[in-house]
Amino acid sequence: MSVLSKAYFHDEEAAFSYLESVIWTNGPVCPHCGGLDRVTKVKANAAKRIRLGLYRCGGCKRQFTVKLGTVFEHGRIPLNKMLQAVYLMTSSKKGISAHQLHRVLEITYKSAWFLAHRIREAMRSGDLTPFGSGGSVVEVDETEG
Ligand SMILES: [Zn+2]
Repeated sequence: MSVLSKAYFHDEEAAFSYLESVIWTNGPVCPHCGGLDRVTKVKANAAKRIRLGLYRCGGCKRQFTVKLGTVFEHGRIPLNKMLQAVYLMTSSKKGISAHQLHRVLEITYKSAWFLAHRIREAMRSGDLTPFGSGGSVVEVDETEG
């Protein structure tokens, strides 16, 4: 069993559950108003274009997913692939190029480029810290090149 065989690297629903457990350690919090009492999960429905991992806040009536405000916010590729990208980029001593991400994750080069850029920025600014503690998912290597 390799770490990459974990469900959240392959299944988008598992990826959402995983990210939620990392970010919302005490249950979902509305990023718009900070409310947490009246937050309910909206069942995903492709036909109705209801995204996976969607929540609705009863306080401010707005919707959100756990990706809001994270490095994954603007990514259009499946969350499980973005988690793989973070893992690959932060666990590799020599770093991973956008071209490698493109091949390994089977996403377009353009998506891979933007994703790699966002992850690198987050690594630099410390925004990946929720993943870093304990080194469970991410071990940031300071060596560059
Ligand atoms: Zn709210």
